[in-house]
Amino acid sequence: MSIERIKVLIIGSGPAGYTAAVYVARAGIEPVLYQGDQPGGQLTITNDVENYPGYPDGVMGPQMMMDFQKQAKRFGTKIRSGVITSVDFSGWPHKVTVDEKTEVEAEAVIISTGASAKWLGIESEQRLNGKGVSACAVCDGFFFRGQDVVVVGAGDTAAEEASYLSKIVNKVYMLVRRDEMRASNIMQQRVKKAPNIEILWNTEPKEVLGDEEVNGVKVVNNQTEEEHVLKVQGFFVAIGHQPNTAIFKEWLDMDEQGYIKTIPGTSKTNIPGVFATGDAQDKIYRQAVTAAGSGCMGALDSEKWIAEKEIELQEA
Ligand code: NDP
Repeated sequence: MSIERIKVLIIGSGPAGYTAAVYVARAGIEPVLYQGDQPGGQLTITNDVENYPGYPDGVMGPQMMMDFQKQAKRFGTKIRSGVITSVDFSGWPHKVTVDEKTEVEAEAVIISTGASAKWLGIESEQRLNGKGVSACAVCDGFFFRGQDVVVVGAGDTAAEEASYLSKIVNKVYMLVRRDEMRASNIMQQRVKKAPNIEILWNTEPKEVLGDEEVNGVKVVNNQTEEEHVLKVQGFFVAIGHQPNTAIFKEWLDMDEQGYIKTIPGTSKTNIPGVFATGDAQDKIYRQAVTAAGSGCMGALDSEKWIAEKEIELQEA
């Protein structure tokens, strides 16, 4: 059986992947996009999105991703369900395996696999996700204005989330599981100086309380084993993100956390014809709008690369 050959293969269906698809498709190349195991990406677990330009009244995350998908489809993107389970970038065209069984070839690959927030793994956290539990202060902080919230974590992300929230909410309790923070000095100082952030050292969350929405958090001091309840309406988990890049590890340059390295100002990776976009290569901004912008870069870079490759092949 002959192997399918794809011109531009897009891996992932968040804002980066679908934006790349819109641009590639409008350039007259029918891209193939594999949606992965969370079609629509992280936005499908967000409620209202109010900071994406063009939606003056806000939009629900899942609705927004359906709009992205519709737009990509309109110009001829072939959208397929399926997970890319391995890649082989040792030669050209690139080899990609779908769902551990089907091999396809791609002339250019745009990686838009995103990142996933790390969760604590307690039952109540999942049950109340989107009902007061969040992993993104910039996305959801606004809904807690004037209220009290908990932030879990002690790295730069947690410090940044706590500082951001402190300007909106009444009070932030920061749960730090050790007696020191991992965050950079400057971020620690910012948190410590904020009058409405209270740091609870050696403290971990045990349970998020509430039936339909969060109304408290049971915490435990891991030194004294004393438990008490914080009356809060929001619970922000900020213990880091995991880029979804494990299958590329063998081939692509990455930083120590697994974010793909790109040539600054471009979406180019160390492998010609492989482009990285969105949260898979961005640990700083991580916004839908920045991911979409970088998806556009991936599309333009891949179109240019394909055009140059065609000339190279004709001349050979
Ligand atoms: P980090 O891995 O640096 O920190 C994770 C934090 O979460 C740690 O304090 C850790 O505690 C805590 N934690 C982990 N698991 C649990 C748990 N189960 N219960 C309670 N606490 C837990 O992740 P970040 O996302 O904060 O940062 C990732 C990288 O991105 C860093 O290099 C950071 O500097 C960078 N970054 C930079 C920013 C900037 O420059 N503006 C903004 C955000 C991130 P412990 O310390 O005890 O292990």
